[in-house]
Amino acid sequence: MTAPARTRSSAELIQAEEPVLAHNYHPLPVVVARAEGTWVEDVEGRRYLDMLAGYSALNFGHRNPVLIEAAHRQLDRLTLTSRAFHNDQLAEFAESLAELTGLDMVLPMNTGAEAVESAVKVARKWAYEVKGVPDGRATIVVAAGNFHGRTTTIVSFSTDETARAGFGPFTPGFRIVPYNDLAALRAAVDETTAAVLIEPIQGEAGVVIPDEGYLTGVRELTRRAGCLFIADEIQSGLGRTGRTLAVEHEGVLPDVLLLGKALGGGIVPVSAVVACREVLGVLRPGEHGSTFGGNPLAAAVGSAVVGLLRTGDFQLRAAELGVVLRDGLTSLVGKGVVGFRSRGLWAGVDVDPVIGTGREISERLMAEGILVKDTHGSTIRLAPPLTITEEELRSALGALEKVLTA
Ligand SMILES: *Cc1c(COP(=O)(O)O)cnc(C)c1O
Repeated sequence: MTAPARTRSSAELIQAEEPVLAHNYHPLPVVVARAEGTWVEDVEGRRYLDMLAGYSALNFGHRNPVLIEAAHRQLDRLTLTSRAFHNDQLAEFAESLAELTGLDMVLPMNTGAEAVESAVKVARKWAYEVKGVPDGRATIVVAAGNFHGRTTTIVSFSTDETARAGFGPFTPGFRIVPYNDLAALRAAVDETTAAVLIEPIQGEAGVVIPDEGYLTGVRELTRRAGCLFIADEIQSGLGRTGRTLAVEHEGVLPDVLLLGKALGGGIVPVSAVVACREVLGVLRPGEHGSTFGGNPLAAAVGSAVVGLLRTGDFQLRAAELGVVLRDGLTSLVGKGVVGFRSRGLWAGVDVDPVIGTGREISERLMAEGILVKDTHGSTIRLAPPLTITEEELRSALGALEKVLTA
């Protein structure tokens, strides 16, 4: 008889990872074993308020009952067909996403980076076939400080040296301009430009919000220049900022929208390129694809996510509680907070470096039962599930005040 395997402690599990798991992350020393709503629980049963929400992949909370029910229902019927065959979930997913965004067509993929890669390919093909750019000459203009994912092509136009160093040679065809600078953008766009690709709010950069008028300016400039406006809403989209899309704050509709993260409801990776017909219409059979993209489980979960967004309740919650978040952070300015940027339930908070690095602040918040993630230096990012209650949000702000003023 073999003895039943002893359950390993958090400390033992962290130690067990070290020799066998690639060290491409430096996680906080918490080992999550269960979660519900806004709360996660570690191996020892300690509970933490999740103020990161999987980088906004968990906008609707952990194990949202509507989404879990949709996933269970689909798990019991059909999970994968490949796109060699049709499946009975994909039409509704594409229809609902097109309707939600006001665009025409959907290219389903899995991860955010794949959506970005797909948009780069589609924009180039559109430039050659529709705009008439000479073959091989298409350029895409991007912003400094961007984060669009981790593939070789995507890190080719990153300005983060840590993300690039050692990974060349890089993909050519990108021009980098300062973010939030319309004059620089105007100067970089020419007859070779296929697209301008930006985040409406730069998440990884520390929730950097452009000036009012920037997105409108990008829309007008790209229209006049005859190139595409691609908005990467993988992190900013799907309710986070108090609207379905962050571009809605300026009433702007891009030609191409990139969605991911929350589109999979925190259950499966689901991403999509959503665009007008003129753009996605350039793809013909065999030119692009994905074994898992548009699988019936992903489509069922994605449709359920769109269903949650259709009521507007989550967007409203994010907008209303966003005021509580902003007021709370405003009252901490001068008390350890040197500045912050927020929109909806999303904030980048610059902590006085004297108090600690973002990592140290995150560790102290963890000791108070609050999970956050640092970005650069002394900046921490707050992005709770949109299901958070006002009381939970206030308790997180209270813990932040305690840590900053200790
Ligand atoms: C997370 C993110 C991506 C990449 O998504 P993955 O699913 O991690 O590949 C791309 N763009 C933005 C704005 C993101 O926040």
